[in-house]
Amino acid sequence: MLSTSQYELLVPIMSAAMSQVLLCLSAVSLAACGALSWLLWRRNTKPLCAGMQVMLAKSDVIAMFVGDGQGAVREANDACLRLFGYSRSELEAGKMRWKTMLAPELAYLPAQFHQQLAATGVSVPTEVEYIHADGHRVPVLLGMAALDPSEDVAVGFLVDLTERRHTEERLRASEQRLRALVDSLDDIVVEMDERGNFLDVWARSDDLLPRPKADMIGQNICLILGEGLVAPYLDLLSAAIRTGQTQELEHSKEVDGHLRWFQVRFHPIRSGDPARRTACLVVREITARKHVEEELRKAKEAAEAANVAKSEFLANMSHEIRTPMNGILGTLGLLLDSPLSADQRECLGIAKTSADSLLGILSDILDLSKVEARKLDLNPEEFSLRETVASAARLMMSRAREKDLKLACCIEDTVPDALIGDAMRLGQVLLNLIGNGVKFTHRGEVEVSVALQAHTPESIELHFAVRDTGIGIEPEKHALIFKAFAQADGSMTRRFGGTGLGLTISSRLVEIMGGRMWVESAPSQGSEFHFTAIFAPASQNVAAAGGKTAATAAVNGAPHRRPGNLDILLAEDNPVNQRVALRILERHGHRVTVASSGREALEELERRAFHIVLMDVQMPEMNGLEATAAIRRKERMTGEHLPIIALTAGAMEGDREKCLSAGMDGYIAKPFQIDELLDALEAHAPKPLRPVPVP
Ligand code: ADP
Repeated sequence: MLSTSQYELLVPIMSAAMSQVLLCLSAVSLAACGALSWLLWRRNTKPLCAGMQVMLAKSDVIAMFVGDGQGAVREANDACLRLFGYSRSELEAGKMRWKTMLAPELAYLPAQFHQQLAATGVSVPTEVEYIHADGHRVPVLLGMAALDPSEDVAVGFLVDLTERRHTEERLRASEQRLRALVDSLDDIVVEMDERGNFLDVWARSDDLLPRPKADMIGQNICLILGEGLVAPYLDLLSAAIRTGQTQELEHSKEVDGHLRWFQVRFHPIRSGDPARRTACLVVREITARKHVEEELRKAKEAAEAANVAKSEFLANMSHEIRTPMNGILGTLGLLLDSPLSADQRECLGIAKTSADSLLGILSDILDLSKVEARKLDLNPEEFSLRETVASAARLMMSRAREKDLKLACCIEDTVPDALIGDAMRLGQVLLNLIGNGVKFTHRGEVEVSVALQAHTPESIELHFAVRDTGIGIEPEKHALIFKAFAQADGSMTRRFGGTGLGLTISSRLVEIMGGRMWVESAPSQGSEFHFTAIFAPASQNVAAAGGKTAATAAVNGAPHRRPGNLDILLAEDNPVNQRVALRILERHGHRVTVASSGREALEELERRAFHIVLMDVQMPEMNGLEATAAIRRKERMTGEHLPIIALTAGAMEGDREKCLSAGMDGYIAKPFQIDELLDALEAHAPKPLRPVPVP
């Protein structure tokens, strides 16, 4: 044990030393306390308080020993014994030797301390390693102060650095992990203060940096970035620090003659010290990504341009094909209406069927292209549901009869009849499903049924089903048949004909009508195609009242027509179509004057009056839209209204609207059926019909 007088000396030394050592554990403070101890010992000033003695002896923080020049530890406090793993009895037995307990590589140190103590009375505090009694190394900060030069005795102060070493180890490991992370990235990471001074810089390699790392640390962002970029960077930096939110910017910069793109992110760094306001800047080169984006944008534009070109091509081809089809179908119709031998009628019948199916394919392809370009709009109008279903069935009746099939319609009583919707498109879907039913059934029946699915004041959802007793479809083909050009069995095409477009178009049409289409079927079990569609209720009944319609639809012959008596101006440039229309119209009792362009039509109208005009849209010199506009302009002064019906081979979206908004009253797409043309004339002819003066 230390003697009372020794403790008296140590207390003031240690009280000063402890505060310093605990504050910062720095070598300087320990040296200061050593020097202070020397002075205090010399002056032998303050009396020792008993409590302090105990505190020092029992201190857990500062370990102390009194050692002599021979290397023996004469005294040590409890903290010192614990630090080196010795018991007091071992100390008293002389087993603790401060020189030999030092790590072997520090064997030179005692002589060095000896010199320093002799010269100044204190040693320079030094980080050393002692060997613990169990053999492990203990890092300590050791400072010594001579107690009694005559006795060659000194007191040693030891601060255990084990915890600090662990902390340093952890820090080092964490830094290594951080470095490995940064090394795996191509990013540049910079910590900067709020004024843009670079505090630290990390990058996988100096090559990524605008200048070597060592030259960047301590620099301000203004010196590193070009003129134009400093302001936006500083704005982002202060916004990140002010708001605590990450800020981001993308910019381009010319480097060695190449334009390069960078993504810049400022992340605010929250440290415990409010005075330390810093942010982490992460710079990532995104030139490659920008190139890919640019390529994608160009590819998208090219695809869009190709799509537009495809639509235009389809519109043009449709026009080009429809114009001669009009001539073919019109002529065939006229011929079939004339007296013929049985042979001639059969041949013409075959030609007419082929022309009709060619037109069907053309319409399907056009419909599909419109649906795919999302350019197919519905034309909602009031219609009779029962009439629409019955007329679709009627159209298929003769084919069903040929195959000896029963074709039935069953519409539930609760289904309202007067609806608002696109009856033409609904009819197209029903026709496709009934047509398929008849096509793929050899024996039995095809039945159409309609039930009410949901009813609100604004909407009526109907559930349609077309069931047949035909060949059926394998379950794995159910999804496939709704895809364009797909057929359940490729080999069937020969046997049954068809393009594989019908169901694709029908299911898309049904989707546009707010519903969906699905099938239940198994081979040899028949098929049931279902679809739903939403309509609006019509204010009044447009047809005969509802009621259970469970009748086999009857084939309806051509409506009986009264002979026509109209003076018609036909503006049409194609000589074949001129002749066809002229023959049809004259055969039905009308008088026709032909004009070959819009300008000729206007000249003809100057010369005399007509009941109605049939106006082709695409004509040389002046097209049908321009001619119509000129007629309507003139009529603004006279207050008259001459009915004009468009005759056009254009069947793309917007054609009908273009005609109507140019002031036309009706629209017939070529090639037209004779009945279609006559119906349109009847619908638009002036009533009552006054004879027009003929020059
Ligand atoms: P298409 O009939 O012109 O080939 P669809 O799209 O209407 O084209 O039909 C696609 C395919 O679905 C048909 O080729 C046929 O394989 C199958 N399919 C359609 N309806 C039926 C049906 N009622 N019974 C059996 N198979 C059918």
